[in-house]
Amino acid sequence: MPEKDGSVELPAPPRLVPPCARQSLPAKGSCWYCEKPLDSVRRFCGKSCADSFDEEAEYTR
Ligand SMILES: [Zn+2]
Repeated sequence: MPEKDGSVELPAPPRLVPPCARQSLPAKGSCWYCEKPLDSVRRFCGKSCADSFDEEAEYTR
């Protein structure tokens, strides 16, 4: 029985990091992190708030 020549394809490693929870947050008219009023399509007033929100979400799981 012939063996494969060593080039075994490993399955992709499972993703340990779930897709960003904030991606599924609805826009609520204000920043989810600092509650600053925003237009109706944005969830965060800036990247720093989005990042901080993500960090907190990590710790509060
Ligand atoms: Zn904010």
